[in-house]
Amino acid sequence: MYPQLCVLCCGEFFGGEPRAQPCVCLLKCFLCKHSRGLMGRVPPLQGALVQVQAAEAVPARKEHLPTREQQLVALQCRGEFDVLVIGGGATGCGCALDAATRGLKTALLERDDFSSGTSSRSTKLIHGGVRYLQKAIMKLDFEQYRMVKEALEERAHLLQSAPHLSGALPIMLPIYKWWQLPYYWIGIKLYDLVAGSQCLKSSYVLTKSRALELFPMLRRDKLVGAIVYYDGQHNDARMNLAIALTAARYGAATANYTEVQHLLKNSDTGRVCGVRCRDVLTGKEFDVRAKCVINATGPFTDSVRKMDDQEVPNICQPSAGVHIVMPGYYSPDNMGLLDPDTSDGRVIFFLPWEKMTIAGTTDKVRNYLGPDVEVRRGDVLAAWSGIRPLVTNPDSKDTQSLSRNHVVTVSDSGLITIAGGKWTTYRAMARDTIDAAVTMGLQLEGAEDWSPTLYIRLVQDYGLESEVAQHLASTYGDKAFEVAKIAQVTGKRWPIVGKRLVSEFPYIEAEVVYGVKEYARTAVDIISRRTRLAFLNVQAADEALPRIVDIMAKELNWSEQKKKEELETAKTFLYYEMGYKVKTDQLTDSSEISLVPADIERYKKRFRMFDKDKKGFITILDVQRVLQSISVQMDENTLHEILNEVDLNKNGQVELNEFLQLMSAIQKGRVSGSRLAVLMKSAEENLRRQCIPVDRSGGGL
Ligand SMILES: Cc1cc2nc3c(=O)[nH]c(=O)nc-3n(C[C@H](O)[C@H](O)[C@H](O)COP(=O)(O)OP(=O)(O)OC[C@H]3O[C@@H](n4cnc5c(N)ncnc54)[C@H](O)[C@@H]3O)c2cc1C
Repeated sequence: MYPQLCVLCCGEFFGGEPRAQPCVCLLKCFLCKHSRGLMGRVPPLQGALVQVQAAEAVPARKEHLPTREQQLVALQCRGEFDVLVIGGGATGCGCALDAATRGLKTALLERDDFSSGTSSRSTKLIHGGVRYLQKAIMKLDFEQYRMVKEALEERAHLLQSAPHLSGALPIMLPIYKWWQLPYYWIGIKLYDLVAGSQCLKSSYVLTKSRALELFPMLRRDKLVGAIVYYDGQHNDARMNLAIALTAARYGAATANYTEVQHLLKNSDTGRVCGVRCRDVLTGKEFDVRAKCVINATGPFTDSVRKMDDQEVPNICQPSAGVHIVMPGYYSPDNMGLLDPDTSDGRVIFFLPWEKMTIAGTTDKVRNYLGPDVEVRRGDVLAAWSGIRPLVTNPDSKDTQSLSRNHVVTVSDSGLITIAGGKWTTYRAMARDTIDAAVTMGLQLEGAEDWSPTLYIRLVQDYGLESEVAQHLASTYGDKAFEVAKIAQVTGKRWPIVGKRLVSEFPYIEAEVVYGVKEYARTAVDIISRRTRLAFLNVQAADEALPRIVDIMAKELNWSEQKKKEELETAKTFLYYEMGYKVKTDQLTDSSEISLVPADIERYKKRFRMFDKDKKGFITILDVQRVLQSISVQMDENTLHEILNEVDLNKNGQVELNEFLQLMSAIQKGRVSGSRLAVLMKSAEENLRRQCIPVDRSGGGL
């Protein structure tokens, strides 16, 4: 059977003969049964219909996830695809999932890893946009209102489709002026109202004392009270991956590390009919043919549009956003803080995420916390920036108002571009691109048999630590059992299985093996998107790298040379992209060494306690010797890590100068939590106590 598909819904997206009749989507669509128009955002689509074989029912979900190698074979051997999506971020994977669940023969190509772009660098909120509702009301802007309404519907859908990866988060709006209280209250109540039955939980007002009870680190002066409302929060990279994996299970040929180099065009009609791509890992180039090519490349939208037509004007205006991660104690466990209306017009937030705190910049954070909470630059555990693919409307002067809206355009040659929008509305964007009412209510990878108590079975059946089990359940959902099955025996009485990659995070070695099955091909894929270590603590990520590379090498048959390269690349990534450089710069900033002579003497004395031979530096053996003398045991790997944090010139030893720089940085608050500093101080105290003569020991035996 060869039925026709409708327009918004995509009939015209597949090219073919021009149609004589009016667009069927004004009536009822064959597949989606909706009569939705283009919501005013999409220009009337000029083109033609072609007959695309659509499945009569949603295809069966594959039990076994195809390997990346099988996917590459499928891309080259399965003949012409119905839909080919360029870009493996939230938008592209959403499009691929929509198309695949409609039974369309679907391909997806991503030049880096899935979610390596903006989609792993978001604020992690699944939200309707409180601020946009305010704009909608103040400016009586119906389009803004509809955008918020749609986002709130999508918020509910996203939360339901992957409950293991997302949840509702209460967010506090601090109120500093009395008049703001009724103003914000009405705004937030309207937000609840617009969400209707999809409202996560009702918002409420807090008195000043109750607000401080819930958020004790909040600055108390001038605080009048607070309003708490609910939005969603998720693990964005894992959510993106879940969408990609679900698409693959529904038959989409998805390949990461496969770059589209140029578009193929039919020499007779001039229509886009496929792409030339390159497997970045092997360098092999090949063509993939498709009836319809979708450009979902986020900030790179215009570069793909220019592959189609060099002259086409830009529609995407990238805008960078920076986030930092600070220790969890900067925000309560389950309460975020947001000020939507600061004096410079920017939103200030700090939100709990994966037991840490995500914030804008430290300077801004400082203004919201009480004077007893010292905000130190050294508390920045990771930092990253993302590029928002804002879509500009050439006809509008007010680019702000359209900034988070999305646009679907179809070029004369049939290239479809989906640009703009936000994470929360990925599915609506995909629907507008392909029309996929079929995906309504669809559960993503891991969600089907997930329940909030699933982790208990992981503990009982496999002997995993409770914290690790909770992490696995909230990351892999029902697939957590597959990770647990391959978890290594620890050799300890408890936990029985599950060796951690780094002691302070619940990520285990088995996740690296499983990550390879989830198409991870580089160490960066593991530290930043399969686990979120690089986003949570760059130093911890750096420490986990050697072991990760070892495990990946076994799985992927890497040579020693390849291992070395991987390690280097991942370290460079942490250094330049995740804030490690800033951290190290703070430590090496010798121009700011400002220790008074007495302190210098004190620290020199402490240093010499370790540097017995007066070499001018301390090595791991020196530290081991001191630890033995005070009966403290520490394994060699941990000691290496501790020394490595301070060893700025990476020569395997800590020179006196490096030590003094560290102590100066600690005094200035630029560095915090240095394990070497704490260890040396407590060793010194221990040794001093041991030296107290019996006659001065307070009369002890
Ligand atoms: C700082 C920040 C915070 C945000 N916070 C939120 C939030 O809290 N909530 C929310 O809803 N939204 C948020 N957003 C918006 C949201 O993150 C983005 O709208 C969304 O992730 C965009 O997804 P995308 O798939 O369009 O782009 P991307 O994720 O960037 O994906 C595009 C992909 O295309 C690939 N690509 C490019 N060229 C090629 C090629 N030639 N061949 C193959 N692949 C190619 C790239 O490698 C990339 O992976 C935030 C954005 C930023 C910047």
